[in-house]
Amino acid sequence: MIVKLSNGRELPIEMHKVRIVQKTTLPPVGQRLQAIEEAGYNTFMLRTRDLFLDMLTDSGTNAMSDNQLAAMMVSDDAYAGGESYYKLLAAVKEILGFDYCVPAHQGRAAEHLIAKIFCRPGTAAPMNYHFTTTKAHFEMAGTKVLEIFGDGALETESDNPFKGNIDLAKLEAVIDEYGADKVAFVRMEATTNLIGGQPFSMANLREVRQVAQRHHIPVIVDCSLISENAYFIRRREKGYENVSIAAIVKEMMSYADLIYLSGRKSTCVRGGLLATNDPKYFEQLKAWLPVYEGFITYGGMSSKEIEAMTVGLREMVDLDVASSSADLIQYFVDQMVEKGIPAVTPAGGLAGHVDAMKFLPHIPQSQYPAGALAAALYLASGARGMERGTISMDRDEHGNDVPSDLELCRLAVPRRVYSIAHIDYVVDRLVWLLAHRDLVGGLKFIQEPPVLRFFTGKLVALDGWGQKLADAFRADFGERM
Ligand SMILES: *Cc1c(COP(=O)(O)O)cnc(C)c1O
Repeated sequence: MIVKLSNGRELPIEMHKVRIVQKTTLPPVGQRLQAIEEAGYNTFMLRTRDLFLDMLTDSGTNAMSDNQLAAMMVSDDAYAGGESYYKLLAAVKEILGFDYCVPAHQGRAAEHLIAKIFCRPGTAAPMNYHFTTTKAHFEMAGTKVLEIFGDGALETESDNPFKGNIDLAKLEAVIDEYGADKVAFVRMEATTNLIGGQPFSMANLREVRQVAQRHHIPVIVDCSLISENAYFIRRREKGYENVSIAAIVKEMMSYADLIYLSGRKSTCVRGGLLATNDPKYFEQLKAWLPVYEGFITYGGMSSKEIEAMTVGLREMVDLDVASSSADLIQYFVDQMVEKGIPAVTPAGGLAGHVDAMKFLPHIPQSQYPAGALAAALYLASGARGMERGTISMDRDEHGNDVPSDLELCRLAVPRRVYSIAHIDYVVDRLVWLLAHRDLVGGLKFIQEPPVLRFFTGKLVALDGWGQKLADAFRADFGERM
């Protein structure tokens, strides 16, 4: 929630209290240098013991509620017919409005099942923007991923409230070009992850649905960050100012033929699910489920997580929960902008994002500026962010790098985990880094997996810039900071 202070300032305030904590430490800069060298300048390869703030992702790292933890204690571990599943089914009906629900172990497992059912060589899947695992699964099944976002969606400094919208003219053009029967589905991703957690509007989803329906093309919504998208609709879209998050989510779902989600985001658990009102899709999904995930009543999830997801679905439509991360991110982005850090605006729903091409203009995309910025910020702060740029794009069929549309360093703000002091600290270290950016150089791969290389690939700092940056930091703050 945002409260107005007597001096007029707006303060994001926690609508929960902390009752369990996890200790963290600030490893000294020498330790950080050694850790990032060993990690191949890839923040995914760092260990928790070498981190101060883990802002890699909001995936599975959100604080759970007391009610979620309590629900885990009463789960039903039956292999088949477990009651936990039927509780989930009831919550899916109540919150999302769907009669059928298929649990899966993660969001990408849901994408895998969707690929099995809908994706064929020669078909296309238009969408507002891809997600890494989405693109991998659909393209491995032969479907071309087409991003049809509107003009300005990739402008990092913007006041466009809905950069996650689909351009309807481009959608019509794709249907014309491929023919409706060769368009596997239209995918809308809530709070579009890779372009900075940017939402789509209700009006846009409604119109996408109308176009798709006219051509008998299914609409699939990736609901991983649905509660944040609903919160942005309430904050930014005319006519929704006084509508509850629950009602907004329900309306969004009424425009979808099939939805899926990673439970690791909005619902604050670890797992995933698919849901639909179409018995045909349910039967098709159910057929593949035992092969890849597990029996229909657990789908590869632990029954404890199913119970927690059931509670998480109901909690995510509470305004105080839906806003918990978004309001802190707004504060984070405001602070960055005030201090001259090239942050992505408007603030999005899962992280503060820094435009690495503006932060490190001297590093060409072939030397991965976003990866360099994530590594440099870790060195300067102990905070771990994530590269969302060319490293996150796999090579094309000729082995060439595919330059990413954006080079972003993403600093995730997991729900209900970090405080304003943590955010202020990270902003301060970004300010220091900006003043010393000439010391930061590019990166080069030395070990590169063929698919989703960003996860475990290893790189080196060109001309050994890591050591130089660590030395400059030590000169300003001493060895222990
Ligand atoms: C995280 C995420 C996924 C993948 O989910 P996993 O649970 O990590 O497999 C898919 N889509 C979006 C938008 C996501 O944020």
